Amino acid sequence: MAKFRFLALQAVANRKPVENGKFPRCSEIFGENVFSSEKMRRYLSTEAYKRLERAMTEGVAIDRELADQVAAAMKAWALEHGVTHYTHWFHPLNGSTAEKHDSFIDLSPDGGAMEVFDGRVLVQQEPDASSFPNGGIRNTFEARGYTAWDPASPAFINNGTLCVPTIFVAYTGEALDFKTPLLKALALIDKAATDICQYFDKDVTRVTATLGWEQEYFLVDEALYNARPDLKLCGRTLMGHSSAKDQQLEDHYFGAIPARVSSFMEELEYECHKLGIPIKTRHNEVAPNQFECAPIFEEVNLAVDHNQLLMSTMKKVARRHNFRVLLHEKPYKGVNGSGKHNNWSLLTNTGVNLLSPGNKPKSNMQFLIFLVSTVRAVYEYGDLLKASIVSQGNESRLGGDEAPPVIMSVFLGNYLDGVLDELVEKVSDKKMSPDEKTELKLNVGKIPEIMLDNTDRNRTSPFAFTGNRFEFRAVGASANCGGPMIVLNAAVALQLMRFKRETDALIDKGVKKDEAIFQMIRKYIIESRDIRFEGNGYGREWREEAVRRGLSVETDCVSALRAYLSDKAKRLFVENGIFSERELRARFEIKNEIYLKKLQIESRVLGDLALNHIIPTAITYQNTLLSNVGALRSVLPDEEAMAGVQVSAIRTISTHIREIQTLVSDMTEARKRANALADEVRRAEVYTETVRPYLDKIRYHIDKLELLVDDEIWPLPKYRELLFSR
Ligand code: ADP
Ligand code: MG
Repeated sequence: MAKFRFLALQAVANRKPVENGKFPRCSEIFGENVFSSEKMRRYLSTEAYKRLERAMTEGVAIDRELADQVAAAMKAWALEHGVTHYTHWFHPLNGSTAEKHDSFIDLSPDGGAMEVFDGRVLVQQEPDASSFPNGGIRNTFEARGYTAWDPASPAFINNGTLCVPTIFVAYTGEALDFKTPLLKALALIDKAATDICQYFDKDVTRVTATLGWEQEYFLVDEALYNARPDLKLCGRTLMGHSSAKDQQLEDHYFGAIPARVSSFMEELEYECHKLGIPIKTRHNEVAPNQFECAPIFEEVNLAVDHNQLLMSTMKKVARRHNFRVLLHEKPYKGVNGSGKHNNWSLLTNTGVNLLSPGNKPKSNMQFLIFLVSTVRAVYEYGDLLKASIVSQGNESRLGGDEAPPVIMSVFLGNYLDGVLDELVEKVSDKKMSPDEKTELKLNVGKIPEIMLDNTDRNRTSPFAFTGNRFEFRAVGASANCGGPMIVLNAAVALQLMRFKRETDALIDKGVKKDEAIFQMIRKYIIESRDIRFEGNGYGREWREEAVRRGLSVETDCVSALRAYLSDKAKRLFVENGIFSERELRARFEIKNEIYLKKLQIESRVLGDLALNHIIPTAITYQNTLLSNVGALRSVLPDEEAMAGVQVSAIRTISTHIREIQTLVSDMTEARKRANALADEVRRAEVYTETVRPYLDKIRYHIDKLELLVDDEIWPLPKYRELLFSR
């Protein structure tokens, strides 16, 4: 460790973002770098602004003339801010964000230069798509992809560049990003939810899905990070004995934020607020050096963009504080991993949160429809929800006794759980008597008693109702929220559509509206009972129970991904125009390919480190012991026993070295055999079965050596340094 001691903690002095000698208020800087509605109004003619607003809210097409006007306005605003370049900013399927900058420069007829940015370049660009994951959609001879402006998410300035959020599709029109299908899923749920609301309130003409993500992350000192090739190349540690003290005392959670971290957070929030990301909450998480931040929730499309922007901003700001930010789902073995809870709800244009119990029986009937339809959706499409959140990183987080298991279930809390059971008992298929109806309505009307603050908090559930929203907790820290949001919104939309269809059919048969609705609610409750689970999701018994209920308990990523190829996936996505069959297949292939590549990289990195860091260090130390034993024996020939401890250590080290060597060579052979398989999906399966197990086996011996070998020569910073330097 010696050499790291001097490298670490070269923290910059507390930096505070200061403007004009004082820390700026968030109200002064919020959205400063965003081409917001307010700025659009300022830079556009009233008529152009109105047309753009309609395009943003109602999806009305934007013609070339309007695009030219908007582009001119954006350019004027950007130039005033010293911006020199523009880019289309999109979310390719590798999970990060992509940008290709172009300068505003163009040549004027007189040979000089001028700044140009018109409607044509605002609306569409043609980046070379050849190096983005495409899952077989793009032939190399058709490498072109298109990016097209998404006017629903405002342009912003980042790093001196005007960024225009866009979708990204192949030359053939097939989606190569998260945003394209997300916008379709959001349109679907808007329509489906609005139709239901029409039963209760004719003023509801639009329903937006809302998302508030909670981003967990680790910070690590940059010097220590640089001395860990596994962190640099894989985003997580592949070895490292647990620290004698880590999170046992639970003294980090919600504790006082360390000064250097706090100055990082302040600057991060400052940057975020300027970008219009409404970050509100920050706190220490459970593991040492683990933290969380969360914004005020927003419309899903914007919230997803903002989370992507947050992740890149975090990385940038962390470096200014000599930190690196780790978004991997499980950077350290033995302490908590990082997730990204997706808080989700539905909001009407009249300002009603559809997942918030109201104070009248009528509004609660509406609430119940949305509640049971969501439960029904998780029941029906649980496998797809799971497929949307599994990844190579999340594989080691989920089910780890700190994060929800990889079994999809819904937690409602005691009270609501009881309300649903009671509804099944009280409502029958037969005609209800007026008394029964009154009693039912009274009961339903009492629901608001479960106020936000006293909903139970079952932290072990992957999908929990938390008083006025659902919280999808299985999402991984590094994920693009778009993935799970596509599935969730489409799935709930479909259940709402079916609800409406079947309720209307009952009404057509002469059943009164209220009664028809109650009957349908009851039907959904009965059908989806098996997905509801109020108990401890971490317990072994739940797994057994889940098997009995016929829920999928598959834990490995590649098997879970197969849900994308199921008939159910086709019914959900293809029949509703969210993905074509080819696009769906491509999603599956891309996720599979990313999984495979990450596992392959980890296996290689571990092999390299074992052979050229660990074994040589172990041998060096063993040599020290050997000469020590030799010297002891020459000085104290009669006292053999004096060297007993050293001799036993020499033996143990030899055993570990031999084991590591054998395991690494077996792992390399397993990799070779798997690499020879032509079919990539099969290759990923074989990697999972035959390569992955070596990671833990090899690590076991390395971690044992770490305990034995002289700390002075151990080549890697240890967990106690990584987790406690701040
Ligand atoms: P907790 O850790 O207690 O779950 P946080 O305050 O960390 O709570 O995060 C809660 C998140 O849920 C915030 O981003 C918040 O804006 C969001 N949220 C609250 N209400 C809604 C809603 N109706 N729709 C979507 N997200 C919501
Ligand atoms: Mg939460």
